[in-house]
Amino acid sequence: MRLLVTGAAGFIGSTYVRNVLAGAYGEAGEVRITALDKLTYAGNPANLAEVRGHPDLTFVQGDICDTELLADLVPGHDAVVNFAAESHVDRSIAGADDFVRTNVLGTQALLSAARAARVPRFVHISTDEVYGSIESGSWTEDCALLANSPYAASKAGADILARAYARTYGMDVSVTRCSNNYGPRQYPEKLIPLFVTNLLEGERVPLYGDGLNVRDWLHVDDHCRGVQLVLEKGRAGQAYNIGGGEELTNLELTRLLLAECGADPERIVHVPDRPGHDRRYCVDDSRIRDLGYAPRVPFRDGLARTVEWYRDNPQWWKPLRRTPAVAV
Ligand code: NAD
Repeated sequence: MRLLVTGAAGFIGSTYVRNVLAGAYGEAGEVRITALDKLTYAGNPANLAEVRGHPDLTFVQGDICDTELLADLVPGHDAVVNFAAESHVDRSIAGADDFVRTNVLGTQALLSAARAARVPRFVHISTDEVYGSIESGSWTEDCALLANSPYAASKAGADILARAYARTYGMDVSVTRCSNNYGPRQYPEKLIPLFVTNLLEGERVPLYGDGLNVRDWLHVDDHCRGVQLVLEKGRAGQAYNIGGGEELTNLELTRLLLAECGADPERIVHVPDRPGHDRRYCVDDSRIRDLGYAPRVPFRDGLARTVEWYRDNPQWWKPLRRTPAVAV
């Protein structure tokens, strides 16, 4: 199988590429990957260092909005897995242009190129943030998309475009909507790597508002297994929620991180809340569980191993940290 993986130098895309090439989802050697990435501030060639030079991997630096590049690159692939995106909510609040460009127009360009090249399968990576915020209970895939941040709105646009390409053109497109990922190699602007690297540097951690926003945490390896399952067994035009089953308030999570890093609670600094901050996300992921999915990484183990990875790999994150490090 020839796979085109976009956003392949980012946190989740690179994990997926490394896992596929390591044979995590079947015989290694059966899949050849073209890894496409623009290498924005979030794309990091070091994330693919372990597989650099691998005979089944070709890396292409390029933009999913570049229709000429896509017309050359896409033909001959058996499937596209689209991870490429601008992914940080706070940056989308500061300015949404790049988010609409990459997340909406880029996804449309990729769908269109895949259609022109008759690529048989397409999996688009969306997010649970497209649903908005939920006080209690959980979203099924049929719930309305009520995105609140510019990031989530741009992801919702892409998500519905993917569905439209399945309905209108009969393309075999599926969408995944996962909860918050954590794990090694996440850019240190997102909550867990920002807080861990701040604590390892002896600095404070900036907690938004009252810290009672609730998120469901999913280890990146579990997410990537879910994506692979949808690639292999997902139905055309269907969306699949992927959850981790570990709901925590940001304050509870921060306390766990303080404990992992041996830091005391005085390191927490409460900062004004993010505008439009969603209170709670929670997906009902029965649909993908019916395909055989269940998260495997117990949260406390996964979190401890993640903190250990940041402790052991300062050469990866030190060059990426912003100053002052307490800014979010
Ligand atoms: P990331 O920011 O770490 O990586 C995104 C990658 O996309 C980077 O390597 C970047 O260089 C690349 N990219 C950006 N614009 C591009 C363009 N125009 N053309 C080609 N490449 C481009 O993000 P991530 O956390 O790995 O997220 C991957 C996907 O998963 C995204 O679609 C995101 O919306 C989705 N998602 C992430 C989470 C999470 O918790 N991280 C949760 C739900 C969904």
